[in-house]
Amino acid sequence: MAQGIPGTSADIRAKALDPLKVTPAQTARLRGQECARCGSRNGLRDAGYAYTACKRSGRLGWAVKVCGSCPSNWRGR
Ligand SMILES: [Zn+2]
Repeated sequence: MAQGIPGTSADIRAKALDPLKVTPAQTARLRGQECARCGSRNGLRDAGYAYTACKRSGRLGWAVKVCGSCPSNWRGR
């Protein structure tokens, strides 16, 4: 699996992110300001949770959103 290139189409829900390595773009997605999957702001809707995790602060869930053209139930296919 190719994964881990910031700023591309990486879905932030795909794995737990290291909070020390989260980029500003990823932060906007974690906060639900942008689509968790593609970064669009059009037609945002609830799409479950993304997670950050590290040894110090533990695992933290973020209620994220996706835009109108991305699947919200990406795990359920
Ligand atoms: Zn999207």
